[in-house]
Amino acid sequence: MGEGGADDIAARLETLLDESGLGGVVGPGELVAVKMHFGESRVTGHVRPRFMRRVIVWLQKQGASPFLTDTNTLYRGSRADTVSHLRTAAEHGFTFQALGAPVVIAGGLRGTTEAVVPVDGRFVTNAAVGPEFVKADVLLSVAHFKGHEVTGFGGTLKNLGMGCASRAGKLDMHSTTRPYVKPSCNACGVCLTWCPEDAITVGETAVIDDGKCIGCAECIAVCPTKSVGIRWNESTDTCQMKMVEYAYAVVATKPGRAGYVNFITDVHPVCDCFGTEKVSIVPDIGVVASLDPVAIDQAAYDLVNEAPAADGELSDGYRAGSDKFRDLHPDVDPTVQLRHAEELGLGTRNYELIEIA
Ligand code: SF4
Ligand code: SF4
Repeated sequence: MGEGGADDIAARLETLLDESGLGGVVGPGELVAVKMHFGESRVTGHVRPRFMRRVIVWLQKQGASPFLTDTNTLYRGSRADTVSHLRTAAEHGFTFQALGAPVVIAGGLRGTTEAVVPVDGRFVTNAAVGPEFVKADVLLSVAHFKGHEVTGFGGTLKNLGMGCASRAGKLDMHSTTRPYVKPSCNACGVCLTWCPEDAITVGETAVIDDGKCIGCAECIAVCPTKSVGIRWNESTDTCQMKMVEYAYAVVATKPGRAGYVNFITDVHPVCDCFGTEKVSIVPDIGVVASLDPVAIDQAAYDLVNEAPAADGELSDGYRAGSDKFRDLHPDVDPTVQLRHAEELGLGTRNYELIEIA
């Protein structure tokens, strides 16, 4: 679906879903997990509720029972637990009254309830994901396509891989080491009572025994003073490959029962987890839908790179035909996620764009 204003996108969204073959993966009475990102507080780049309302109506016309869903975050922001996450989603307009479907935060109150999905990956053998994604009949990923500081860009593969993972899964993708305790620890002992492995002792401060710690990230979630830190030390290449292997695991639970949508609108330089306003790097391009999670990201990546800069004052790296994501994040090769996904058999990088009139 090509460029146009918000009204144009809303009007053509149902036609796009009809034409994309997504109707073939949804059946009457089926629970459809519509995986999206509700945006960190004060962020507006996420997919708008008015568009999601169209998606929900379309799914309900197929006779399905959709719900909107995302997992709690690893970092401490406005979506770190289910209560704050639901509040943030409601503040952004994602309410039952507006959407006609509920918001269900996957993975429990603190993101530690998980289903373990075996995967024969290079890095991941057991993917820890929100059980709701496994238990739903159908998965529809609706991603906001934008730049990303760790993975170059974030689209469908990131929405599936990082976005469906439990807190421990996210930690596994981002870090090679265990959490650490910061000097701000006041020795309150809350983490001690939550640690499932008795890996924490508390003296003047808490201390984590790396030999016992399993990286579940529970202590990060419960610390009232935000004194448990994460070493964000996984290389971008490995983080991307782990993320794709998680995506593979999630999709493997839904053979023939998953579909994908990318909103290539408000294409910001960094992800929607940063609670600041950003400027788009290209004019809004439109929305793409597919049954292939790799082809859809490859297409979105190419469409952004082929587009002119949104702002004439941006550097040459943003001109039509340049790789804008490499210019934004020079240390990140975003094609790693596309290549690894194709090698795993998650999909193909070849695609044909069919424009919806
Ligand atoms: S990550 Fe989990 S196992 Fe490790 S110290 Fe924290 S709560 Fe304990
Ligand atoms: S919960 Fe936080 S402040 Fe309390 S002992 Fe553990 S690390 Fe320290």
